[in-house]
Amino acid sequence: MPDHSPDTLPTPSDPSGPCPRCGRVSNFEVEKNGMWIMAKIDELGPGFAAAEQAAILRCAGCKDAVVVITDGAGSGLHWYPAPGMGTLDRAVHKGVASAYDEGMRCLGIGANRAAAVMFRSALSLFVKDKGSEAAKGERHLKTALKHMKADGDLHKSLWEWADHLNQLGNEGAHPEDYDDVTSGEAEGLGKFVRHLIAHEYEMPARLLRDQGLLADESDAERASQDSAPRGGPAGRLMNPGDPENFR
Ligand SMILES: [Zn+2]
Repeated sequence: MPDHSPDTLPTPSDPSGPCPRCGRVSNFEVEKNGMWIMAKIDELGPGFAAAEQAAILRCAGCKDAVVVITDGAGSGLHWYPAPGMGTLDRAVHKGVASAYDEGMRCLGIGANRAAAVMFRSALSLFVKDKGSEAAKGERHLKTALKHMKADGDLHKSLWEWADHLNQLGNEGAHPEDYDDVTSGEAEGLGKFVRHLIAHEYEMPARLLRDQGLLADESDAERASQDSAPRGGPAGRLMNPGDPENFR
């Protein structure tokens, strides 16, 4: 039986955790469960046992549903929609957000090397966005992040975490040089990037917004977006010049 944790993605046996649709930590109602996708001969008894099952879980926060595929023991294998997509604060650098989102989509299908490449790309764009000239000039990510820590542009705890990640410092000189990446390594890198985004972009933006010092969107605009259907007459999608359209 998997552990109960609000930090892990929801499954029928642990129906709480981050919602792949709205990004909130939420509780889920198990609407359908135990739909067999694949069976195998039961080693413990006669007949067949489920090797993969599907479930539909509905988020108490956004009221939309997600599909979860689990193994025979109930551990999550796959989620639809892919977790982590499009749930970042609008203040996050667009390139960083796009690379992180794509990395999460890769993780969701077990494409670990591709995920690591996208997470490294997010970090590299972060260095270009926030780093000093010295940090930007570094070819290796770990050294660049070390520069940023020395410059006061990266929190010490984040640098210490970065220093312990196998997948930072493994970047080869050529695209074909990438080592194998385990799912644990790719997930670890993804978590690091998520924390870095929260710490370096989202928290500062929320601090300013709550003090009324961040004019990234007027209250009137936000109110009309909250009440209008997505892409409706007052929605963000109606402004063709808004880079948010491409998130
Ligand atoms: Zn939700």
